[in-house]
Amino acid sequence: MGAVGTVSERERPEMSIRGIGAAPGYAVGPVWRYTAAGSAGPREGEPAVRGLAIADAAAIAAEELDELAGRLRAQGRAGEAGILEAQALMATDELIVAEAERLASHDGVSSPADLARAVQEAGRAAAATLAALDDELLSARAADVGDVAARIARVLTGRRITPPPEPSIAIADDLPPSVALDLPAGSLLGVVLQEGSRTSHAVILSRALGIPAVVAAPGVLEAVAGMAGRTGSIRAAVDGTTGEVFLDPSPAVEAELAGRRRRSEAGALAARALRGAAGQTASGRRIALVANIGRPGEAARALEAGAEGVGLFRTEFLFMGRQDPPAEAEQTAAYRAVLAAFGPERPVVIRLADIGGDKAIPYLQLPAEENPFLGVRGLRLAYGAGRALLVTQLRAIFRAGAEAGVTPRVMAPMVATAEDVELLVGLRDEAAAGLDAEGVARSSRLVTGIMVEVPSAALLAASLAPQVEFLSIGTNDLTQYVLAADRTNARLGALQDALHPAVLRAIVATVAGGDESGVPTAVCGELASDPAGALVLAGLGVDELSMDPAALDAVRLALRLATDAELEQLGRDALASRTAAEARGRAEALLARVAERRAAAPPDPGRRAPDDGRAASAAPGR
Ligand code: PEP
Ligand code: MG
Repeated sequence: MGAVGTVSERERPEMSIRGIGAAPGYAVGPVWRYTAAGSAGPREGEPAVRGLAIADAAAIAAEELDELAGRLRAQGRAGEAGILEAQALMATDELIVAEAERLASHDGVSSPADLARAVQEAGRAAAATLAALDDELLSARAADVGDVAARIARVLTGRRITPPPEPSIAIADDLPPSVALDLPAGSLLGVVLQEGSRTSHAVILSRALGIPAVVAAPGVLEAVAGMAGRTGSIRAAVDGTTGEVFLDPSPAVEAELAGRRRRSEAGALAARALRGAAGQTASGRRIALVANIGRPGEAARALEAGAEGVGLFRTEFLFMGRQDPPAEAEQTAAYRAVLAAFGPERPVVIRLADIGGDKAIPYLQLPAEENPFLGVRGLRLAYGAGRALLVTQLRAIFRAGAEAGVTPRVMAPMVATAEDVELLVGLRDEAAAGLDAEGVARSSRLVTGIMVEVPSAALLAASLAPQVEFLSIGTNDLTQYVLAADRTNARLGALQDALHPAVLRAIVATVAGGDESGVPTAVCGELASDPAGALVLAGLGVDELSMDPAALDAVRLALRLATDAELEQLGRDALASRTAAEARGRAEALLARVAERRAAAPPDPGRRAPDDGRAASAAPGR
């Protein structure tokens, strides 16, 4: 908890908390405190409820979930309905019901509150068992099991979740989809989670619904609890971009947030108007703006957002949540779909499967590791039993290129050494030779690059670059490895800003190494999705930025408004900064300056992308 720099000392609100901005947008409104236990509701004490057995309560919970799923299905929200249907099945599963009954009978208890405690206990045990399983899909269900147990407990005790009486900002530990989706439409203005991560269900849902969200907001529950006794409702103001949360915001803070919202809406309109225009600076330097996608179905969204191609097609989805590896033909179809959607004018970079780290694939039966992020991950699999898997993937990419009539681009994750690059080239050549021997049609070549996300690759960029055709910096991993800060550890959030000058030095080394051999450098980590970060990267000489399609508008506009001289100065200033905060402050300052310029003279869309040629393309060879 502490002061927030954007609000002056005199105007500081009663309390400000900085969490992590997880879904963009601004909200001001009353606080709605969500707790899984619920509050005393009308059904408490009802004869029908009093004296329910655990199995009956579980059946009621399952009915509730099925009913909600049915409503969502009717609204065409099949994905969310599926989560709830799975939960309905869990509600009556032995794992919870039989275990809770066993616990209750062992303790000889029968009051609703005691039975509810037994269910919660059984739910916790089941969640812990699932969380420990070496199966990503099942372990992701742990939170869902806890939520189901909480629902059964509420049925037993007659407690319920009372929806907010007016549109509100939810403040919670975590907010399960089964609760958020059950609230009347328009109930939530914003979401603030004390725990949670950018990838928690609640946050994904918030983003889909356009509701601002902040996660990992330290002490927010205690702060709200501390205010609960006093008269009048508690209000909050939330900036889902910066992660700022204000409790009992002063009028000045409310006005500040309203101003930010107005500026952001005006900016979004101006940015949208540039859709389809090529990425370039105000001085005319081309910087290709391409998309990160994770499934073929995302290609349409990227094209709609004006992506000039794909800079990172994460292919792990093909390998996860199944019992055996995808066949070559299945992979070929998936890659062909994306290559065909983007066509010959918009290059697509397919990344070889990045298995390992936090992405476990149970059927590969890889040995357990003490430290998976520093283990056999990505390309390293090919030194052992994973070689065939990556050769099959490369064969599928070659074949997809021939079928779609384009030259695919491919890159390997987790390259650390010159031997790794040789390995990649060897795998590629083996795939080509195998297809030729079998007489299978293939693309005549694959434009081949490497990810630079391990510090050694950044330091060695000058000697690795001549062996490849492009470099693509993964700032997510580069940051975790440069700063020795596990990217999944929310407690190390402060160390995970890729604008840290140490990370920027690694980026400069990479760009310089690529430049020596005329090999372009892209960035495909999250830093490229952040307009302030994109300005710094442009200032450091990066040629291509690859990002979530939703970020393309804002980044395109910011670059169009900044001159090369400004960007280069920002690059130098950011590099010379002592801390990430200092570098970020400088980048935000330039971003604010150029945004003002937009109001005075909106940039001219000028040339269209991508048929003006990709002067700065990080992936040549088309
Ligand atoms: C990165 O590390 O920055 C990156 C783009 O790859 P991933 O996030 O998939 O590890
Ligand atoms: Mg990575």
